[in-house]
Amino acid sequence: MINQQLITKIKSAKRVAVLTGAGISAESGIPTFRGAGGYWRNYRAEDLATPEAFARDPKLIWEWYAMRMQVCLDAKPNPGHEVVAKMESYFPEFLLVTQNVDNLHPRAGNTKLVEIHGNIFTARCTSCQKKFKMESIPKQIPVQCNFCNSLARPHIVWFGESYDLKLLQIARNFLLESDLLFIIGTSGQVGVPVQLASEAISHGSYAIEINPENSTISNLVNMHFANSSGEIL
Ligand code: NAD
Ligand code: ZN
Repeated sequence: MINQQLITKIKSAKRVAVLTGAGISAESGIPTFRGAGGYWRNYRAEDLATPEAFARDPKLIWEWYAMRMQVCLDAKPNPGHEVVAKMESYFPEFLLVTQNVDNLHPRAGNTKLVEIHGNIFTARCTSCQKKFKMESIPKQIPVQCNFCNSLARPHIVWFGESYDLKLLQIARNFLLESDLLFIIGTSGQVGVPVQLASEAISHGSYAIEINPENSTISNLVNMHFANSSGEIL
């Protein structure tokens, strides 16, 4: 139920943060990790998205990523992404922190964003560490570095890996001083992003969650819309 208090909050907000997870892309047809349809060749995402899996079989991991890149290329931003893109020019200060790697937020038009888990269309060299964009599905698998021909890997934060501290700091600094925070389509099972959100809430940010189900942060938010993000946004 949209109430007057919420409208006033949104209209008067100066510094607005949005934290998104896989759920915002569900309506674009991109499977979430923990929802149905997360299986591929009898592997679980949690078993493929690790540095150990890549070290064991880089070709298999690149095949999996090529398949996911195709799903992302076939998908289009949905009304949820479009509204989050519009927020950027609506509020005086804005930052989107996304856990998604699917590139749908940039495609919807967001430029003030931090992709804390990386982007599926970026590769990183395992030797010289340089990053490069992939505009289409790589023809040669495993992908080699554009600069030195060594083995490249997806530029993604895998399970068990640490975050880019600079990006994390940018996200944290903004969230902690935000006056309004939208938490959209995340289960909160990945600890770091939800920790940022809970710190922001304890610093006084007014939190609005949009998720058909409860997440690990639902008990802390000020308002929870238990519906799909495309509809509510
Ligand atoms: P998750 O799979 O753990 O949780 C998805 C959440 O979205 C659930 O809480 C579910 O109830 C909710 N949801 C489902 N449909 C929704 C809808 N229509 N509207 C709003 N919410 C909806 O996802 P997570 O919390 O983002 O964590 C998964 C990790 O996997 C992330 O780190 C992310 O990097 C990665 N991942 C990314 C993508 C992507 O880029 N699209 C897809 C799968 C996984
Ligand atoms: Zn290189």
